Amino acid sequence: MNNTDVIIVGAGPTGLALACQLIRYGVDFVIIDKKETTTPYSKAIGVQARTLEIYEQIGLADKLIALGAKAEKARMFAGGKVRGEIEFNELGKGMSPYPYVLLAEQGKHEKLLYEHIKSHGRDVRWQSELESFSQNDPGVTATLKTDTGGHETIKAKYLIGCDGAKSLVRHALGLTFEGSTFERLFYVADVKIDWEFGHDALQAFLMRNSLLAFFPMTGEKQYRIVGTFPEEFAKDEGNVLYEEIEERIRLDAQIDFDITKVNWFSTYKVHTRHVNKFSDGRCFLAGDSAHIHTPAGAQGMNTGIQDGYNLAWKMAWVLKYGSDERLLNSYNEERLPNADNLMRTTDRFFNLVASPDPLLVFARLYIFPYIANIAFNLDAVKRFVFPRISQIAINYRSSSLSKNSGTFKVKAGDRMPWFSVDGESVYDRLRQPGFHLLVFMGGKTEIPPLPADLMAAWDGKVDSTVISLTPEISKIFGTDKAFYLILRPDNYIGIISNNFSSASVSEYLAKFTT
Ligand SMILES: Cc1cc2nc3c(=O)[nH]c(=O)nc-3n(C[C@H](O)[C@H](O)[C@H](O)COP(=O)(O)OP(=O)(O)OC[C@H]3O[C@@H](n4cnc5c(N)ncnc54)[C@H](O)[C@@H]3O)c2cc1C
Repeated sequence: MNNTDVIIVGAGPTGLALACQLIRYGVDFVIIDKKETTTPYSKAIGVQARTLEIYEQIGLADKLIALGAKAEKARMFAGGKVRGEIEFNELGKGMSPYPYVLLAEQGKHEKLLYEHIKSHGRDVRWQSELESFSQNDPGVTATLKTDTGGHETIKAKYLIGCDGAKSLVRHALGLTFEGSTFERLFYVADVKIDWEFGHDALQAFLMRNSLLAFFPMTGEKQYRIVGTFPEEFAKDEGNVLYEEIEERIRLDAQIDFDITKVNWFSTYKVHTRHVNKFSDGRCFLAGDSAHIHTPAGAQGMNTGIQDGYNLAWKMAWVLKYGSDERLLNSYNEERLPNADNLMRTTDRFFNLVASPDPLLVFARLYIFPYIANIAFNLDAVKRFVFPRISQIAINYRSSSLSKNSGTFKVKAGDRMPWFSVDGESVYDRLRQPGFHLLVFMGGKTEIPPLPADLMAAWDGKVDSTVISLTPEISKIFGTDKAFYLILRPDNYIGIISNNFSSASVSEYLAKFTT
């Protein structure tokens, strides 16, 4: 019998990133996976800015960036010819310290997270498979099949199923997973290519009703190819030979190339589904166990990482600081609408790139390649596209943890915007795993001190910073009057107001005490 606070089932990117967060908050956990080790495959390669912002807090952003490459350009082909190029350079300039999509293979990414876990004296229990679990008031009891073939019981206060799309945890909890399955079979192949085009761009092939793209990967001439078979293609996933995939790529690309090496290929059906709720009692779901989407937009893994980031601090507050367990309800309240929204936007995006609708086909083949570069250089387009793709626009404005008072451009429930303070990233001041009180004011404004008993009660769990209200900050927040905000430990704004009073700060923080 093994007792811990949290059992994490599954050491894919969601479970590993969640374990890194629990380490950050000093929460005890056991993480298990039925596999032998981290995935050797490239799977998710698009890493979004929000993920890098989260990793920055635990010192992993620069390490992951060093393992990947920035997506800087897209080259568009139609009918076997180059029809246009889009420069993504600094698409998100001024919006995030990471104004691009990073291309880094999931295998390398998982290894980095795993090494971080080990560097903190923890390990994943590989070859340990969750077989069943039960929950009652004091906790959860899980039964595992271990690497020796025996069985073991672990007791914990909470269990988090990060066990992927076929989640045993989701099934056992009886949660629904509604949505749809695309008719067409997708393929993915990691290959080495000899051709006349540079390795500096994502190559997108625009077609009438299909999808084909080559993503540059690290390593000379290495590419990830993603595409779809036509609807009439009768074979099931798992029964397709690599030769059939290459034949399809040649038919669709209509250009000359030589595939000199195949490192990995796979075929899969794309489902778009999410659970009816993210938790049941003491058991929670995160990542693909709770939501799956089309690969369009590179969102799946990044969303799983954000699920864990949202849940970890809430569990830490309940387990370590005695917050009411009802705080955990806000996990479903905040992440379920996000999963729902993501399902709709990834479907819409997929339709834009692959729908046979005649109008969309016309726009895709004859308009988009010629205007795309100009459009992507317009500030308004950058400000629309980057926040949505990078996941920095995800907000919890309607959450019960968000409190607005006043009219600001940035609302309670938004991610803390990024800007510089005295030439340094404001995020450098926000790395402590706790609440942050930020007061923005001009030189002459006085703010009353916070009551000593409040600061004593919150010692180490909240820090405070006064920041000079510059014209840049006034523009971002939409106010030139002094204001304050409280950031939750995940750097989302909990409260924003011009009326600073120690009573309002106490009242907000009281939500998180017993
Ligand atoms: C070809 C392809 C390209 C993709 N591209 C992108 C992209 O660019 N960007 C992006 O964000 N997403 C992308 N995705 C999606 C991404 O790979 C997934 O969203 C991501 O892997 C989900 O991570 P996860 O940890 O939630 O689940 P998984 O990666 O599925 O991990 C689940 C883990 O749980 C373990 N497990 C399952 N059951 C048990 C059990 N009973 N006991 C113990 N362990 C168990 C499994 O062994 C596994 O290790 C892509 C996916 C594919 C297939």
